[in-house]
Amino acid sequence: MGIIQQQIKEITGSIPDGVRLVAVSKYHPAASVREAYDAGQRIFGESHALELKSKHEELPKDIRWHFIGHLQTNKVKYIIDYVDMIHSVDSIRLLREIEKQASKAGRTVRCLLQLHVAREETKFGFTPEECRDMLQEGEWRRMSHVSLCGIMCMASNTDDTMQVKKEFHTARLFYEEVKKTFFANAENFCECSWGMSDDFPIAIEEGSTLIRVGSKIFGTRQQ
Ligand SMILES: *Cc1c(COP(=O)(O)O)cnc(C)c1O
Repeated sequence: MGIIQQQIKEITGSIPDGVRLVAVSKYHPAASVREAYDAGQRIFGESHALELKSKHEELPKDIRWHFIGHLQTNKVKYIIDYVDMIHSVDSIRLLREIEKQASKAGRTVRCLLQLHVAREETKFGFTPEECRDMLQEGEWRRMSHVSLCGIMCMASNTDDTMQVKKEFHTARLFYEEVKKTFFANAENFCECSWGMSDDFPIAIEEGSTLIRVGSKIFGTRQQ
């Protein structure tokens, strides 16, 4: 068994029920995705629209593709026909474009709202205040081709595990607040996407339901 298959089995064997693995295959070749697929993995994450498009064309059609990176509005059309979930909605403008393209494609696309909790200023996402305001404003309620399913975040890139834990905890509390306030009767709103190669065990302690793991499975990226 190759290293990719071993890692998939080790991670999926160690995470609790209710947590699913998104294998982040960005910058890795389709052959590597295939290896993970052969180990039973079906959910893959990509962060570039055109790379996702070409992998989708080449690989088995029962793969569920999750888009996890910053998505430019002009790229939505490349992935809308088949993307299973978009984790990285960080503006109402992007949500509108997803609604528009999904409507054209005759689909409803599951989306997560990306929350900015990290210390780094460069990370994308709504601040909690911006996210609350957007939800309060209510335009999303009239969008019948997007289904808001939860919250996504990235922690600071630091060895300070207490800091990372604190950020995931903030995200969890925010998720619970938003669920109670806006999605009390929405069964679909149930996902917490946090945790990457270096911090997914902490993320799981803080209520993650989707972990996005790349380098721990596929090795360090070429780019
Ligand atoms: C690349 C990436 C990951 C995976 O990161 P690793 O450290 O390789 O596990 C997870 N989430 C997002 C948004 C990413 O861009």
